[in-house]
Amino acid sequence: MKQVTLKSIEQIKAHIRTAGASLYTGARTSTVIPFEKMQTLGEMDLTIVDCSGLPQAIELEGDLLHITGPVSWKDAKNFARSKGVEVMTSPTEELAAIPAGVATSCTGERCFGHGTLRSQVQKLRYLDFEGNEVELSSSKKMQLPQASEELKEYQNAYTHYQAFKNAPFPRFESETDLLTGTEGQLGFITDVWLKTTPLVPLSYLFMKLPCWDVDATAHLEIFEKVQSLRSQISACELLDAHCLATLPKEKLPVGCEGRDLIFLEIKDQDFELVYEVLLSKLSTIGEEDIFQMSANACHALRMEVPRAVFEQNTRMGVTKKGTDVQVAAKDFEKLLVQYKEMTKIGVPYNLFGHFGDAHLHFNFMPTPGKEPLCQNSLLGLYEKVFEWGGSPFAEHGIGFLKRPFIEKFYTQTQRQLFSKLKHIHDPRNHFFPQGFMGSAK
Ligand SMILES: Cc1cc2nc3c(=O)[nH]c(=O)nc-3n(C[C@H](O)[C@H](O)[C@H](O)COP(=O)(O)OP(=O)(O)OC[C@H]3O[C@@H](n4cnc5c(N)ncnc54)[C@H](O)[C@@H]3O)c2cc1C
Repeated sequence: MKQVTLKSIEQIKAHIRTAGASLYTGARTSTVIPFEKMQTLGEMDLTIVDCSGLPQAIELEGDLLHITGPVSWKDAKNFARSKGVEVMTSPTEELAAIPAGVATSCTGERCFGHGTLRSQVQKLRYLDFEGNEVELSSSKKMQLPQASEELKEYQNAYTHYQAFKNAPFPRFESETDLLTGTEGQLGFITDVWLKTTPLVPLSYLFMKLPCWDVDATAHLEIFEKVQSLRSQISACELLDAHCLATLPKEKLPVGCEGRDLIFLEIKDQDFELVYEVLLSKLSTIGEEDIFQMSANACHALRMEVPRAVFEQNTRMGVTKKGTDVQVAAKDFEKLLVQYKEMTKIGVPYNLFGHFGDAHLHFNFMPTPGKEPLCQNSLLGLYEKVFEWGGSPFAEHGIGFLKRPFIEKFYTQTQRQLFSKLKHIHDPRNHFFPQGFMGSAK
């Protein structure tokens, strides 16, 4: 495996035209590519191309945010706010780059109210396998004259997952889908035009609950009641007692030890409605268990949790043993029961994530010796997710680490179309041929 750093689009074009298999990187925060331990993947014909130093620009064009280069979510958010608009996707790792976010079809807290990044990409520009600039629009349907029957069959199979944030395979309906969630396997994204929404005042409301592994009654009641409030609540997140316990005491809100927290991002203008439909109707939570936090304090707390998990795993020298499963609302209780079952193997764990979307990250925190036990338990979980028709990896993509688990979710329908797309859009197998789409034959 080789590493190179490229600092201009002209260098990227030249690299595409002349170099072998390559993986282009943004901020390298992917949790499915073990950047720190690439040697564990074995010998591989792959050049890792650091693109984090490419020129960057952000502009507001009407109500579209046009970003060029590896602009971070943080910079885009701050820029948008300075212009009176909001970016609708907010991954927890704000230093990640937006083109990589599109490549991984990244998601964040705000999917609950604002939908997926896929639906917010209005237009994008990418470099194809010859280094040519190509523009794609979300208002045009994806066309594949060379394989129209295969595409139709693929789209039919996707219908089951329409309501999911990310299915086990990318969407492929509009033109922009070609580069969305395909993890850089069909081209290199240079520009993205994102829809925005007007900036409005927001409040952050926290609810204290018993830990879900002791009693999930309150969780299930909240889950059911928030579903009708997606226009008023943009985020509905869970931080369980175990993940909060890994944080230094001074970073925790007062009186939360041993409790789970669910927080809501609510538009101020809709606060009364949320109070009426949700808060005043909760039979399991009293007013004394509800409190508010500032936006900054809420984001800081939310960000601490995955970072703490990441850091502990790095310290222990283990690769992440966590989940990224989303299930249909009707299966949410089953998912919690399954996670509880998984706690019985005796490895420390925690649970957090996108509660309102039935999309939670269960993390084992093993010592190196316990890794195989966790891996086995995860295999059992993916069997269940398959049975329920859920999505095993709704957020973080497949990269290298999830490939062994995802295969089960593909049939001939997906494999055939991946192969066609690689053949048409990456005939020289330049773009990450080790990825889930495989190589062009
Ligand atoms: C603490 C923490 C919290 C996280 N929270 C979230 C979260 O809330 N939501 C979420 O979705 N993810 C989250 N992640 C995972 C990660 O941040 C995302 O996957 C992110 O989109 C990766 O961006 P990056 O710039 O780091 O890309 P990299 O890790 O550098 O690359 C990721 C992938 O994108 C491809 N890629 C990069 N640039 C381009 C390009 N220009 N064109 C085409 N392909 C490209 C790469 O080839 C690779 O396959 C989190 C990670 C951490 C460590």
